[in-house]
Amino acid sequence: MDKLDEFRTGTVTYVVMPLQKGAFKVTEPLHKDGWIVLLSECTCTCGKFQSKKFPCLHALAVCTFAPVPDVSAWPEASGIPTLFPPVMSLPPPPTSPRTIQKKKS
Ligand SMILES: [Zn+2]
Repeated sequence: MDKLDEFRTGTVTYVVMPLQKGAFKVTEPLHKDGWIVLLSECTCTCGKFQSKKFPCLHALAVCTFAPVPDVSAWPEASGIPTLFPPVMSLPPPPTSPRTIQKKKS
């Protein structure tokens, strides 16, 4: 079983709860103990994240947890001018010897 399969089967039971900024508590429903994952510091209380330099299953579970709020909760942007792409003049079309010959005939 490779890491991806391990992740797919392993993270199904994990429950991720956001604690503070960048800190998440990862728990399993059948286990009382949980793990604290600090994404900003790349650490997990299981110790594998910081020792293996590879995200442990708890860190990966946090990554799949999307803390992005609903669109309605986003702040309304006001007073910001609409920026249009700069107007650029197109370069002249390339003239090949073949087109010049056609014009002559
Ligand atoms: Zn961990």
